[in-house]
Amino acid sequence: MLTRTEGIVLNSRKYGDADLIVTYLTSDKGILNAFAKSPRKTKSRFGSSLEPLTHARLSLWGKEQSLPRITQSDIIEPFHRIRENYHDIVHVSMLIEMLIALLPAGIPNSRLFTFLLNILHTVQTGEEGSKEALHLITRIRLLATIGYAPRLKGCGRCGKESLDFYPDSGTTLCSRCVTGPGSAGKPFMRLSNRAIHFYMHSIEWPIHISNRLKPATETIRELSALLDRHLTFLLSRKLHTSKFPVGVK
Ligand SMILES: [Zn+2]
Repeated sequence: MLTRTEGIVLNSRKYGDADLIVTYLTSDKGILNAFAKSPRKTKSRFGSSLEPLTHARLSLWGKEQSLPRITQSDIIEPFHRIRENYHDIVHVSMLIEMLIALLPAGIPNSRLFTFLLNILHTVQTGEEGSKEALHLITRIRLLATIGYAPRLKGCGRCGKESLDFYPDSGTTLCSRCVTGPGSAGKPFMRLSNRAIHFYMHSIEWPIHISNRLKPATETIRELSALLDRHLTFLLSRKLHTSKFPVGVK
């Protein structure tokens, strides 16, 4: 069966001596793995269309569930400028690791596809100076798009205002709701009002005008730490990409 679709290469890994398995986020089939026959033998156009982040038009042969073969792949946008920028590629790799870890394969999500494309365009054209904020916002927005964003809008049980985020509940909780059996000594993070406001804005604002949000370095640091704790709890491990040395200068 021949299928045509569009995809963004999330990653690719060797298979045997010369073949590749490529993981895509597709426009209409969600995350999909496909097989490429010896693309590394030559520096071909086909080979470069399988580079991570490439947005390509694809033809696949075989059933989607059983590793279809890529018979054609035409580059729409290579996003090579992101791959060539250390900070950008580390941050985008983190988004991709989050996506693959949190999202099961084969669940269509066209909104997510459009959203990731948007992020890649915004990161590629973003001004260097505002990148730290942009990277933070994209992490928050990605989590929101796939339904895993931490809830910071008041207590997650009663709605009362609260600045205490509980990673094992994925939400802020007020002191009244957190009392009860087993809750003594539950780890939490006290957030600043500023961080919560910025977080709400970064969820609500369209991604392409998010460069107008100018958070303080402290706010970026605070929310990055919060996302790290949140993701570590969700995945029961640290993100591999969180070990790369980047961060707020
Ligand atoms: Zn409460």
